[in-house]
Amino acid sequence: MKKHNFSAGPCILPQSVFKESSEAILNFNHSGLSILEISHRSKDFMAVMEEAQHLALDLLRLEDKGYKALFLQGGASTQFLMAAYNLLEKKAAYLNTGTWSSKAIKEAKLFGEVEEVASSKDKNFNYIPKNYSIPADADYLHCTSNNTIFGTQIKEFPTVNIPLVCDMSSDIFSRELDFSKFDLIYAGAQKNMGPAGTTLVVVKEDILGKVSRQIPSMLDYQVHIGKDSMFNTPPVFAVYTSMLTLRWIKQKGGIAGVQKLNEEKAALMYGEIDRNPLFEGFAALEDRSMMNATFNLKDEKLKDLFEDLAKVAHINGINGHRSVGGYRASMYNALPKESVEVLVNVMKELETQA
Ligand code: PMP
Repeated sequence: MKKHNFSAGPCILPQSVFKESSEAILNFNHSGLSILEISHRSKDFMAVMEEAQHLALDLLRLEDKGYKALFLQGGASTQFLMAAYNLLEKKAAYLNTGTWSSKAIKEAKLFGEVEEVASSKDKNFNYIPKNYSIPADADYLHCTSNNTIFGTQIKEFPTVNIPLVCDMSSDIFSRELDFSKFDLIYAGAQKNMGPAGTTLVVVKEDILGKVSRQIPSMLDYQVHIGKDSMFNTPPVFAVYTSMLTLRWIKQKGGIAGVQKLNEEKAALMYGEIDRNPLFEGFAALEDRSMMNATFNLKDEKLKDLFEDLAKVAHINGINGHRSVGGYRASMYNALPKESVEVLVNVMKELETQA
């Protein structure tokens, strides 16, 4: 039986994508060959890469605006250093909203001066700092749109005159934004897009080529752009599965279509967290993430009962990250609303039994 999967990532993907990608492992495009055994330069795979790149830019409304989409390897963690390698000449500005921002800052410091414009570390990252100033002489501002661990999300992005770089690993393709505000967006695939193994990088070409250092080929965005994301063997299966998920998002009405469902799921989840006297939310109300809802039991003695009820209801993956504790319900694009209803019913049942 299929479980209700609230995992933070890798996580749920559409069932139709699981089915179609598993069929392609046995017989890709009725070719008599597995997707895993064909050349990445074959006509069939080149078409996959092209469609994945096209769909990514199309869904973000960035086609014909000077952007390129790349499917790279090394996870979002490699982008922490790659962004700095390619863009940081002297000084960069970073907004610190959690563990992943902190890791990005650590890597950037290897390449130049980092000015932390604001941090929410004082309250264990349960909010998004506001009203900070950004140095006009910084090479770029880096932020994290959604803080997977703490369950906070930036609702309004700063308007800046310097390049804006954003780690969108855990909320890419989940809500409409003016993506043309950003000059570099990156996201590990393993939340809203596909399996672990590829990272989507969307970069505005005119910000590149401005640093004086030499960049190793594998870490140079311009090299990957020059080779259309085929500089070396791409992670074919991860790109194929991502392409299928991007098609699925398009069929759902694009980002606007999935956003509507995401809003409904989040309203249901937070509604119960706020209504149920046994629970309390972790993140500041105005900064709550639509993707990861973090919450705690007020009385730890109910832990076993709550977790038993969740298990019986076939709920998977709600334990919070060790740095926050409590619970985290990740509600990525592919999570059906019905799964949230099941979790909400378990929370109500706890109230009855406690
Ligand atoms: N950024 C964010 C916001 C994340 O949630 C994660 C992983 N959960 C990462 C970066 C790191 O991604 P990866 O494991 O692909 O390096």
